[in-house]
Amino acid sequence: MAKVQREIFIETHEVSIIKRKSYFVRAYCELCRREVSLFPPAKAAFLTCQKTEEIYSLMNANKVHYRYFKDDKPFVCLTSLCLV
Ligand SMILES: [Zn+2]
Repeated sequence: MAKVQREIFIETHEVSIIKRKSYFVRAYCELCRREVSLFPPAKAAFLTCQKTEEIYSLMNANKVHYRYFKDDKPFVCLTSLCLV
């Protein structure tokens, strides 16, 4: 009697989605000359895998675009941040 051998492969894949309250602004950036997404520095740091201090450093060096809105909190232009 012939011996039948079966191999069964089970692949598993797990995706973790962490939802956070997303807070950003779509507004016109005068330096990019188009509508862009602007994020608070901490959120911009999270999105670009940098430290928040690095984002503030880039802002102080005028290497990224940012602007203040009504509540006097800065928002960083994500487009300019991606070009650094
Ligand atoms: Zn910009």
